[in-house]
Amino acid sequence: MSTPRPRATVTQIPAYVPGKPPVPRDDLVTYKLSSNENPFPPLPGVIEAAHAAVDLANRYPDMGNSALYAGLSEKLGVPVGDLAAGTGSVALIYQLLQAFCDPGDEVVHAWRSFEAYPIAITSAAATSVPVPLTADAEHDLDAMAAAVTDRTKVVIVCTPNNPTGPSVTQTALDAFLAQVPSHVVVVVDEAYLEFVRMPDAVDGLATYRAHPNVVLFRTFSKAYGLAGFRVGYAVAQAEVAAALRAVSLPFGVSSVAQAAALASLDAEEALLERVADLVAERDRVGAALREAGWSIPDSQGNFVWFPLGERTADFAAACDAAGIVVRPFAGAGARVSIGEVAGNDRLLEVAAAFRRG
Ligand SMILES: *Cc1c(COP(=O)(O)O)cnc(C)c1O
Repeated sequence: MSTPRPRATVTQIPAYVPGKPPVPRDDLVTYKLSSNENPFPPLPGVIEAAHAAVDLANRYPDMGNSALYAGLSEKLGVPVGDLAAGTGSVALIYQLLQAFCDPGDEVVHAWRSFEAYPIAITSAAATSVPVPLTADAEHDLDAMAAAVTDRTKVVIVCTPNNPTGPSVTQTALDAFLAQVPSHVVVVVDEAYLEFVRMPDAVDGLATYRAHPNVVLFRTFSKAYGLAGFRVGYAVAQAEVAAALRAVSLPFGVSSVAQAAALASLDAEEALLERVADLVAERDRVGAALREAGWSIPDSQGNFVWFPLGERTADFAAACDAAGIVVRPFAGAGARVSIGEVAGNDRLLEVAAAFRRG
């Protein structure tokens, strides 16, 4: 008897390893530093707006996301037609690949980078072309440009790079875009955009205006602190944005998520304050780790990367024992999110003790 068989590529999809929650303990407060979440609750006014949307939950959401698009259009100064919302920017990766890739088409991306990329690429039956990071854990944009072939449909630039932290500069991105053929879509995944503090930082909006093949991915999950609501958006010139909307899940972004995202846009001042706090904490943690002898890449996100190689599992276990949960990448390193001040302090203690052996 024959049984239904999924596409052959389905069995090759790598598993997503979500950041674990801590096991509650009686002896100490535990901290979840494993998923780059925001330790602050949703911004002022957001919970009220979400509750109001809950009252109307017998109705489908606005499939056109019209209020959210209007709010984003005004805030960013881009036409409504250049926007596409999705259930987190992870969903937009799937939509983009579905819209642009035929089976076997190649997608070039840095590695190690966001673990959802190879998952989404394999799900689309496209071919992942991973390009190793430099020794400084940065994108090797020259090598990525050189990896583009006749089969390449999409290149993904993750800046700041999750999980290692460095951002690309505008100068480097411009030089890269000059090398990539204009029919290849270049995704600039700016999930951590708000945390970037560096000279020559990427100006995503100026870049998308200058290049019809550039797509920006942004999310409400990180700086805005709405990871549980699942909403993100893309900015691209009209034809590309329309393709992303065309393949979207009908009514995907819930009415609660739309209301929460829209209300978040109105809380700009509180957002900037929180982001400034987290950036200060990131810089404090980075400086203290270097002081303790750690060699870690320059992080422009809300997390730091410990390049531990084979000692990764031991480090993660030491953190677990101290009540903080980090995100280990077996044999490579551990990513630790910037959280509450007390959690960050705990990390510094564990990391210093681990170095002393
Ligand atoms: C967190 C993250 C995203 C966004 O995730 P969503 O919650 O799906 O919006 C996208 N790209 C990178 C690199 C991320 O780290």
